[in-house]
This record gives sequence, structure tokens and C-alpha cells, in this order.
Amino acid sequence: MTPTAHNSRRTFAIISHPDAGKTTLTEKLLLTGGAIHLAGEVKARGAARRARSDWMKIEQQRGISVTSSVMTFERDGITFNLLDTPGHEDFSEDTYRTLTAVDSAIMVIDAAKGIEPQTRKLFEVCRLRSVPIITFVNKVDREGRPVFELLDEIADMLALDVSPQAYPVGMGGEFQGVLDFATGRVARPEGPSKEFKGKREADVELPEKVAENVELAQIGYPEFDLDAYRNGDLTPVYFGSALKNFGVTELIEAIAEFAPPPRPQPAGEDTVGPERDEVTGFIFKVQANMDPNHRDRIAFMRQVSGTFKRGMKLTPSGLGKPIAIHSPILFFAQDRELADTAEAGDIIGIPNHGTLRVGDTLSETNKVRFTGLPNFAPEILRRVQLRDPTKTKQLRKALDDLSEEGVIQVFYPEIGAQWIVGVVGQLQLDVLVSRLSAEYKVEAALEAAPFATARWVSGDAKALDQFESFNRANLAKDRDGDLVFMAKSPWDVGYQEEKNPELKFSATKER
Ligand code: GDP
Repeated sequence: MTPTAHNSRRTFAIISHPDAGKTTLTEKLLLTGGAIHLAGEVKARGAARRARSDWMKIEQQRGISVTSSVMTFERDGITFNLLDTPGHEDFSEDTYRTLTAVDSAIMVIDAAKGIEPQTRKLFEVCRLRSVPIITFVNKVDREGRPVFELLDEIADMLALDVSPQAYPVGMGGEFQGVLDFATGRVARPEGPSKEFKGKREADVELPEKVAENVELAQIGYPEFDLDAYRNGDLTPVYFGSALKNFGVTELIEAIAEFAPPPRPQPAGEDTVGPERDEVTGFIFKVQANMDPNHRDRIAFMRQVSGTFKRGMKLTPSGLGKPIAIHSPILFFAQDRELADTAEAGDIIGIPNHGTLRVGDTLSETNKVRFTGLPNFAPEILRRVQLRDPTKTKQLRKALDDLSEEGVIQVFYPEIGAQWIVGVVGQLQLDVLVSRLSAEYKVEAALEAAPFATARWVSGDAKALDQFESFNRANLAKDRDGDLVFMAKSPWDVGYQEEKNPELKFSATKER
């Protein structure tokens, strides 16, 4: 591997509202890109086959589906790492954190619906980190909203410059293909299924109305600007149909050409760039075993720098002593030379027994600490009611474990014995109750808590002391012992902020 191998990596996620077509687009990207790691379809030899069977065995034995968390494909010398953001109605912190491990994102929008709530939420998370976004307006084979209405909605609702790169030639019953601005060619539907099968026509005479609009689209919106895109200030907009295969190749090409290679990651005051020799990375996700008899987990590490080799020793920041990584799960490599190495931008799955936590840094020297992997203020808080009071110890262990995994956050009130769990989405609560019972044999119920949200409090020691003594009934410690203000309402947060200007009330906490 050359020292610049990381330049050929594109690590990205797809953000969308449920039903916009993320799954369909993912499949088409993998097919078009010649996916290497669709389970069961891998043509592997030698070491590559070994690597593959390693993780297939792990999946079978432990009931963990790792394949779909990271999907890798190669095209024209570029390696694409597509990270899955769980696609539930509900959010979990998992989704947020996955976005800390990508360098760019594709935002899929349903042409009939425009920007929907979850698209917007996920977009805001990307914006926090200036993650550049390529927009794909999907389902133009069906009747959708007018193109300009969609473009303006994206621009207005997301406060983002939009730069159209394509235009649908009709939609729904009138759909005749998609014009690509870069080449001037129209991708045409073929056959009874009206799919795109590779037919592209140049010098097409467009219907009058379409021709007019195309001109307007090209002069009425900002031109594509690479810097503005990479800063997260502008999004190029493509139109297509994942189902009928329109716009998929164009998307892959756009990612290859415009999307950034691995970006430097914040580490305190410093940043660590991919060109650094030392292997470094951070854990952005821990997936536990679905089989309760096994305590094994897979920690997903986003590699930030260096060339990783199987068997290498890395030190997790949470442990302080090095561990040898003998059976990493590497998600790529049809070339057997590559089967045992990974580059900056790649994801490595590390089997472990709970030693690796979300937010941990791994490095060779143990001198790097990546920052910027936040905990998010929970939007739902519940009291945990134990059915059998003799199980307090098990409950505490379970809550600590599950909060380490990022399933929930846990808060231990300063007054009162009932612990509080916080989540970002309802689904996490269901997962909590069933895992408490199945894995820890703890039967618990969740009751309403008189709190609406929580804020991490920090600031001057004296001011903190005073605040603590006045508000003890509304204070708790999180699993790291940090002070948290449990607020009855968002108004309550504002009130305390105003009353305590020397304190900081933070909706996120970095590990
Ligand atoms: P997800 O929830 O975002 O993963 O969405 P899916 O990929 O599961 O798609 C939701 C529904 O929309 C499915 O019935 C798809 O077949 C359909 N769909 C996805 N893409 C297109 C498209 O380009 N055109 C049409 N007509 N339907 C689509």
C-alpha cells in the first residue's frame, strides 16, 4: 500500500426519512459498484476467503449481523465504505454516532414529499460536524412535486445553497428520463419496466417546458463549488429513481469525484490526519450479541490514520494497556494482498468482551484522544422500577453495561433511590426492557419520570456548588459521575441558564 492509499477511500452514509428509498438505493449502489461483500456473493480466494469466513463464522456463532453495518464496494480504483444508519422511525444514538464516523453523506428525498422530519434531524447532525451532503431526489419515475418547489424547499428548510446537477424529463406518466448537466445526455427508460439499462442520448430535443426549466435551473441556482460543498454550505442535487436505476451511476461518480477522502479528526486541541504513520481510530458503535448466552460484542472502529495489519497491537484509551487484534473483521478486499490490512477511512470490526466502549480511541502510542463523539441530551426519560428489590446490584451492572454500549443513558439522582434512564427514541426503551430480562434476568418496568430532558452542567466550582445546593432534587450523576440537571421542561432549562449565567448547560457531552 502506498502512503496515500487513504486518498482512494470514500466513507459515507445515507440519511433519509423512512420510505424515501434508502434500502433500494443502497442495493443499487452495491450492485452498480460491484459490491464485494454482499453476503454469499463473495468471490474470494486464499487469505481473502479466510478473512471472509472468519466473520461469517462470527456472525453465525454470535448471531450478530455485521455485514449490513458496513458495506464496501470498489469502482475505478476508489473504495467506498457505506455505513448503515439504522432506519427505524425512531432514532437512537447509534444513528447519530454513525454519522461521526463518515466523511460525507447522501441525503435521499422522496420527490413527492420533500424534506421530512427525520431527514431534517439527521441533516442537523451532519451540519454540526460540517459533513458535506450530496442530495438525491428519488422516485422521479412517479408523480412528484415540481422541481423548483423541491429545490427551494431544500434551500429554505436547511439553509443551504442548492446546485442542481440534473433534471428529470417529466415525472410520473410523463417520465422520459433524466438529463445530466455535466454531460448533457439524457438517460432513457427502456422496455416495459421503464428501467434505465444503459441507454444515454446526447443532443436530445427536450419538450419546450422542460427545456425552459432546465435553463432556469442552470442560471437560477448557484454553480457547483467544491469548497462550498466540502464546507457543508452547498449541496449538489441529483434526480433519479433508485427503483428504476436512474441516477445511481451519477451518484457514485459524484462521490468519487467530489466527496472528501478521510478527513482529519479532532483530538482535543489538535487534529489527526490520515497521513500520520501511527494507526489510530475511534469506536463509534458497539454491537452486542443477540444471543444472551454470549457476552461477546463487536466494536466498530473508524480508522483515522496509518495502515492497520491483522494481529497488530493497539491500546484502547479506556483500558490503558495494549490488546492484540488477531481476528479483526475487515469489510473489504477482493484482492488477497489487501485482505489483512486496512487504511484510514476504513472500518474494522473488533470482537471483544466488553472492554471496548463507544468513544474509545485506539492507537499505537496511547497518546491520542479523539474528541467530538457526543452523548446527546435524551428526549425521553423514565424511572426504572425494579420488580424484585434484591436485584439492585444486577440492575446497576446492566444499566452501566447498556449505557456503555450506547443503548441508553443512565442517571443516578442525588436524592431518591430510583434510577433514571434516558433515550433519544422510544425504540431504545423496548430494547432496554427486553435485554434487561433476557440477558441480566432483571425484570423491570419503566415509569414516567417528572423530567422532560437533561443538561450536563459545568462551570466555575463555586457557582456549581451553589447551584447544587439549591437544586439537589433535580440533579443526578451520569455513569461517569458528571453532573446532570434534570429539567421539567425546556422552559426550565432556559430559566436556569438565565439564572446561572456563569454555568454552562450543555445538550451534548463529549467523552
Ligand atoms: P427506506 O425505508 O428508505 O429504506 O425505503 P425503501 O428503499 O424500502 O423504499 C420504500 C418504498 O419505496 C418501497 O416500496 C420501494 O420499492 C419504493 N421505492 C424506492 N425507490 C423508488 C423509486 O425510485 N421509484 C418508485 N416508484 N418507488 C421506489
